[in-house]
Amino acid sequence: MSYTQDVFKSVLEKNPGEVEFHQAVKVFFESIERVLELNPQYEKESILERIVEPERQIMFRVPWVDDGGRIRVNRGYRVQFNSAIGPYKGGLRLHPSVNLGIIKFLGFEQIFKNSLTGFSMGGGKGGSDFDPKGKSDMEVMRFCQSFMTELFKYIGQFTDVPAGDIGTGMREIGYMFGQYKRLKNVFEGVLTGKRIEFGGSLLRKEATGYGLVYLINDLLERKGKSIKGARIIISGSGNVAIYAHQKARELGGKVVAMSDSNGYIFDSSGLDLDEIKSLKELNKKRISEYRKKYPEVEFNENSKEIWKNKCDIALPCATQNEIGPTEAEILVNNGCYAVGEGANMPCNPEAVKIFLDNKILYTPGKAANAGGVAVSALEMSQNSARLQWTAGEVDVKLKEIMSGILNNISRTAKEYGDENNLVMGANIAGFIKVADAMLAQGAV
Ligand code: NAP
Repeated sequence: MSYTQDVFKSVLEKNPGEVEFHQAVKVFFESIERVLELNPQYEKESILERIVEPERQIMFRVPWVDDGGRIRVNRGYRVQFNSAIGPYKGGLRLHPSVNLGIIKFLGFEQIFKNSLTGFSMGGGKGGSDFDPKGKSDMEVMRFCQSFMTELFKYIGQFTDVPAGDIGTGMREIGYMFGQYKRLKNVFEGVLTGKRIEFGGSLLRKEATGYGLVYLINDLLERKGKSIKGARIIISGSGNVAIYAHQKARELGGKVVAMSDSNGYIFDSSGLDLDEIKSLKELNKKRISEYRKKYPEVEFNENSKEIWKNKCDIALPCATQNEIGPTEAEILVNNGCYAVGEGANMPCNPEAVKIFLDNKILYTPGKAANAGGVAVSALEMSQNSARLQWTAGEVDVKLKEIMSGILNNISRTAKEYGDENNLVMGANIAGFIKVADAMLAQGAV
């Protein structure tokens, strides 16, 4: 049995039922085999055994009072996965599907994504099975305050700096920041994704979507193509999806379909982004209501079927495992030539294989959606320096970072013998920096 197979077997045994975590580790191990062969030191010093074991996992009760006066209980999580290259950093997901396996897969991916940004950030992730959908502002506030009443003990600007993710936007970050400040009596950059008035960075909201499109456009241009004139499908209609749409449109692309968890809308002449922002960002409504303004637009209740439509570029920006082999085959057969992951692990391993076998320009989330955490690092820098950069300054830095990531993963893929395999390039480049830091720090 090879080193990776051996460690993977123990991951399965020690973490039963954590299917998303198993999937993330398996894909990762498969793509770093060559580095392990060339550097026996990693096996000798048990790097894989250490890297798959979170440094700390915190699970806690989150009691809160609903508008009817009833006490409700959710489960809170923070997985502090790896601090070899910096304080733990990663978002907080609020969604009913959240469980330990999902938080661990996200935290594991985050280690290597953060490494790729070039900043000094370790990997972590957290969240709760609380569903903000359908809750009043006051209920969300009471939940966030209760969540932070436990979480504050474990985080801090030099220890662990959480951010947003699915279900956690500026509103939730604001409530959590306020509670942290009350409990600790310090005003510090302990959370990113804050409102501008209390230390947020300009362009943080836009950063993940913009960064995704910068990277994909850069990749296309290196291959003699461009987003200009391309027909694009974006799944989701949340933070990442909306700003990917905005930047894609600015660069001359046409977004023909978007979705939420209740279905997708399709218009071959291009969707109205302002209407989508108004529905989803401002008013927290369902995307199906787009048809109130545009009754001729097609609505399909099955979100997954969004990939059945013809497109040049697919940007999955909703959630994990939304593209399987069936959807991947359809995309390839319909002439799609680029896939950029705005979400974390939206394409399952079979789908990724189909993309790579068919020479689709496929970029994994670790690299493609790293713009968000990169601008979070810029937010931390601004907080420490007590200053605020203009949106233009942040945008220039974001573009440079995304292009640096693409250079790094492309060079690494080439160096390890498979130029077009950016999954391998991203995993190896992200891994080496973290593994070498761990070696240098001894048995930690
Ligand atoms: P968000 O603002 O909460 O939006 C999530 C969107 O995905 C919503 O439109 C949601 O629909 C939709 N969705 C969720 N589950 C779905 C499903 N099963 N089928 C179809 N649509 C579904 O979250 P976000 O921040 O954009 O995050 C989206 C993805 O990007 C996640 O994988 C996240 O981990 C990743 N990511 C986010 C950032 C960031 O800076 N925010 C950075 C890196 C990676 P509903 O409105 O119906 O819930």
